[in-house]
Amino acid sequence: MIVVKAGGGNGVNTEAVCADIADLVAQGEEVVLVHGGSHETNVISEKLGHPPRFVTSVSGHSSRYTDRETVEILAMVAGGRINKLVVEKLQQMGVNAVGLSGLDGRLLEGKRKDSLRIVENGKRKVLRGEYSGKIEQVNGELLETLLGAGYVPVVAPLAISGESEALNVDGDRAAAAIASTLKAQTVVILSNVPGLLRDRVDETTTVSYIPLVHIHSYLDRYAEGRMKRKMLGAIEALKGGVGQVIIADGRVTQPVHRALAGHGTVISDNGA
Ligand code: ADP
Repeated sequence: MIVVKAGGGNGVNTEAVCADIADLVAQGEEVVLVHGGSHETNVISEKLGHPPRFVTSVSGHSSRYTDRETVEILAMVAGGRINKLVVEKLQQMGVNAVGLSGLDGRLLEGKRKDSLRIVENGKRKVLRGEYSGKIEQVNGELLETLLGAGYVPVVAPLAISGESEALNVDGDRAAAAIASTLKAQTVVILSNVPGLLRDRVDETTTVSYIPLVHIHSYLDRYAEGRMKRKMLGAIEALKGGVGQVIIADGRVTQPVHRALAGHGTVISDNGA
């Protein structure tokens, strides 16, 4: 079984990702596709007059402030348009895809983080009304039921809290949690870079292999911003029993096949 995460940023070749998935499914492989939605959510939020607000946490990380209106826009964009158009594309390619968000059937259950501790104009503040969370449980039975009946689940990165509120969750971590629960062999994380780069402006510096035991040193040394989340997702997936995580280029043709052939950054626990 393969879990594919296809970017929320700009640039991923969705058509090519779907074509590869159609190919793998035709060969009898079970596939779950998790997609992002951050870029388009930012664009639509601007259009709706509710521009995204990015804040800096006390530990120095930048993150999106997800108020209730933002989570509703996320449900509309990631859970709606993006999810349904991926399903449409897969259906056109003969794949019986089913679009879900983490809310449906409590597919992804998470703990809500309801406030953010931020620094603004040099002052520490607590920002309330946050609707994001960390995934704590995956309804693997629901996915297995769908996969067992021949459907391909397409998952939008929203979760449901213990109090049944919609939450914004990170797509890379969602893919990792799903893969761990299903004990997938491989997670392929596709984005707009060829993998983890030693030098962010030089694509020839892609790290080709990282043994799990060394991942923290690579994470601390090279990964910034959103790449950090991909690597944290990789650690969670491998510790959860997944065989390998491949961070690879989603802008190319045959992105999944190329990743599976080892193009990108392969991370595994080889016991070294
Ligand atoms: P998603 O596709 O899930 O939305 P992004 O495309 O935003 O995620 O995540 C990949 C981004 O991570 C790259 O575009 C790049 O700007 C950033 N990044 C930070 N550090 C690195 C690194 N060392 N190597 C590659 N990308 C990095």
